[in-house]
Amino acid sequence: MELCDYQAAELARLLRKREISSREITESALLRIENKDKTLNAFLTVTPEFALKQADAADKKFKEGRDISPVTGIPVAIKDNLCTKGIRTTCASKILEHYIPPYDATVVKKILQKGAVLIGKTNMDEFAMGSSTENSAFGPTRNPRDIKRVPGGSSGGSACAVASGEAVLAIGSDTGGSIRQPASFCGVTGMKPTYGRVSRYGLVSYASSLDQIGPIGRSVEDCTMLMDVIAGYDKRDTTSINVPKPDFSGSLSSDINGLRIGLPKEYFVEGLDPLVKEKVIDAVNLLGSHGAEIIEISLPRTPFAVGAYYLIATAEASSNLARYDGVKYGLRAERDQSGLEEMYEYTRSEGFGKEVKRRIMLGCYVLSAGYYDAYYLKAQKARTLIKDDFDRAFQDVDCIITPTSPSTAFEIGEKSDDPIKMYLVDIYTVSLNLSGLPGMSVNCGTIDGLPVGLQIIGKPFDEETLFCAGHAYQQIAERK
Ligand code: GLN
Repeated sequence: MELCDYQAAELARLLRKREISSREITESALLRIENKDKTLNAFLTVTPEFALKQADAADKKFKEGRDISPVTGIPVAIKDNLCTKGIRTTCASKILEHYIPPYDATVVKKILQKGAVLIGKTNMDEFAMGSSTENSAFGPTRNPRDIKRVPGGSSGGSACAVASGEAVLAIGSDTGGSIRQPASFCGVTGMKPTYGRVSRYGLVSYASSLDQIGPIGRSVEDCTMLMDVIAGYDKRDTTSINVPKPDFSGSLSSDINGLRIGLPKEYFVEGLDPLVKEKVIDAVNLLGSHGAEIIEISLPRTPFAVGAYYLIATAEASSNLARYDGVKYGLRAERDQSGLEEMYEYTRSEGFGKEVKRRIMLGCYVLSAGYYDAYYLKAQKARTLIKDDFDRAFQDVDCIITPTSPSTAFEIGEKSDDPIKMYLVDIYTVSLNLSGLPGMSVNCGTIDGLPVGLQIIGKPFDEETLFCAGHAYQQIAERK
């Protein structure tokens, strides 16, 4: 095991005791990238000089004993839809292939301020639209557990980097499952915070009412370390919410005595791989045998979730992506053009990939006069009903456990020709985005060597309970 394979919490302890240096960890991660990333393709941009410079600055802080945070000196990979000043930010799209932002996203700024080491920008589905990272304009990322398979998406590069030791921690974004599902497929831990908990300033928007940024790590404890850095109100994001920020790592406990866990019966029905179901139920029973109370609950509007999500997400995307017009950002087509309209047409035709175009067209359609009531408005009503289900369930339980995904990682190419098949894999994750709730995926074993994820869903702004339940599970499972 190399330094890049350690948990972040363990590295933080070793750094503080000055048994290792940030330069050693960073060099070990960079070496792993050099050896593995030609195959895995988790990174779109690697920043070795910048990383080593930050590592040396972190080591200086340790030497002087000042400004130290738990993430100081730890290599972090950032999804390529978060703006990084002076570092290319592509969203895995040809339209932004050469875009260099003039500013840092709030999350990036906070991470750098705490002395973490930005090691590179990770691959993703173009504009975060997808569940497999196959929709990247720069080639798919591969699952480090089995390179014939997808790492999940859209934050597939971030999850792959953490799982393979190319980074110790990573940042992802989650609009309909994009942190949790790749975390599940790669066997790591990923958390989508409550909508409004983390500033979206500098996150390239996909569907603004659903997007949230969150941490990916090798354990719940690792995720709490990153959450402590990125959470909090930001006046630059009007949807960030000004509520007190807990000390996530400081309050981390594994006491689940009396914790009421809800199991929604609608999540354990046809379509779920029976072996995945078995693993999730085994994990729930393990928590039950350690003091948690398991309660069957009902979320009856679950069948509407995927439909509502794909109407709302595409509607918002069609509006958000209107800004890529060849004038203000990125690519402009060079073909002969007769005027402005053709310039738009050629630029957008050349710059966007197939799935992004499909979503823009779908989104424009559902928002158009005559269809708005039948699709967009109806989807918003379904969204309210889905949220009502959770509100009701949370009167009786403290958190809810489900599978993160109906199956383990599928093969590259297996679903890429069939968008409906691909959309349906999001069945367990999208409801949380529609309702603004926090959710986390924690590994609960493997099937034929492929990781299975357990999803823990919490009440708004109660990430602490998720962390506690997930941490308890990891502690118990480790002892077993
Ligand atoms: N798979 C979902 C989609 O394609 C979710 C993506 C995400 O969370 N960014 O929209």
